[in-house]
Amino acid sequence: MLSAPLTSTEIANLVHWRRCLHQEPELSLEEHDTQAWLQQTLAAMGARDVRQVGGTGLALRLGRGETDRTLLLRADMDALPVDEQTGLDFASRRPGHMHACGHDGHMASLLAVTRRLLAHSDEIPGHVIVAFQPGEEGGRGAVKMIDDGLLDGRWLAGRGPKVQAAYGLHLWSPLPVGVISCASGPTMAAVDDFSIVVRGRGGHGALPHTADDAIVAASHIVVALQSIASRRTDPLEPVVVTVGSFHGGSAFNVIAEEVVLRGTVRSFGKTLGENLPNWLTQIAQATATAHGATAEVTYQRFTVALRNDPAMADRIARVAQATPGVTLVDRELRMMAGEDMAFFLDAVPGCFFFVGCGGPHAEPHHSPRFVVDEAALPVGANVLLGAVVDFFSA
Ligand SMILES: [Zn+2]
Ligand SMILES: [Zn+2]
Repeated sequence: MLSAPLTSTEIANLVHWRRCLHQEPELSLEEHDTQAWLQQTLAAMGARDVRQVGGTGLALRLGRGETDRTLLLRADMDALPVDEQTGLDFASRRPGHMHACGHDGHMASLLAVTRRLLAHSDEIPGHVIVAFQPGEEGGRGAVKMIDDGLLDGRWLAGRGPKVQAAYGLHLWSPLPVGVISCASGPTMAAVDDFSIVVRGRGGHGALPHTADDAIVAASHIVVALQSIASRRTDPLEPVVVTVGSFHGGSAFNVIAEEVVLRGTVRSFGKTLGENLPNWLTQIAQATATAHGATAEVTYQRFTVALRNDPAMADRIARVAQATPGVTLVDRELRMMAGEDMAFFLDAVPGCFFFVGCGGPHAEPHHSPRFVVDEAALPVGANVLLGAVVDFFSA
């Protein structure tokens, strides 16, 4: 039956696939072996016409296709430049590369769901598009897939259906196994990045009055930027301004002529997001001027905020409530991290939900000791499967 929870054999396959993927991690936009492995695994389960989309990504279409109702299921593929220290039997075989965010689990879960959907493709009246997306960790792989026509049908020789809705999941280690989280509205932040080149006038460290110290000017800029969150924005609207890198100076007794600051800004709101580049530039330039220096600001809006459609998030909540292994459905979790799925959910309504895979003492994502409690994998996969059934039933 299409809608039955995964069997113990299907769960064993899921876990096996996840471990295979875990051993061979690849970085953003370099997922060539992962792509080939997925293609092979999909072929072995009888999938036909699997296409390379977005460079190292893959997509396939399932279902009878008698209606135009079309749902996209998406999993991300990439790993991180982290040296694994978990000591697991199936730890990374590639030094300096690790699936430290759980994307191996996302791919394996989507494979398990795909296998079930393939076996019951005739029970799906419309279309399910299964997408394995490369380059989530800063590679904007979602944009590459959209540019290749994943949402408008161009990817399938122009004959593909138009995607009407999208679902995706993320394993989330701070939540215990059994918890599913699907908040409505903005759930993950827009990611901006900036660099500021502060230029003063170098000189002798003992004669500051004959120079314009770029380090003092840049230090004031770092502090002043924090007033964006405390004095420019509505206190009820979250914003983060982080200067993550500060480089300047060459010797203890030389006043630095140039400092380069790099950082990131995170926000949810659209209007707020549009104001941020101006506020940051204004503060940097005016503060530099006050210290006899100049500031050259480069500001990029990198990822849009991830917004869950309220009706689609309600659907996921309802499905999750009825899914075996789910002990709690949270509707509140939001975070200032960014996520590439945002580009799909900016184009079509959908929901990106979190699947607990750890607990309060679990190692954070991106840590070299990050581990996934594999009991979480069938929970997430079953919610995704239930969500497909639900999408075509109403
Ligand atoms: Zn990550
Ligand atoms: Zn991730």
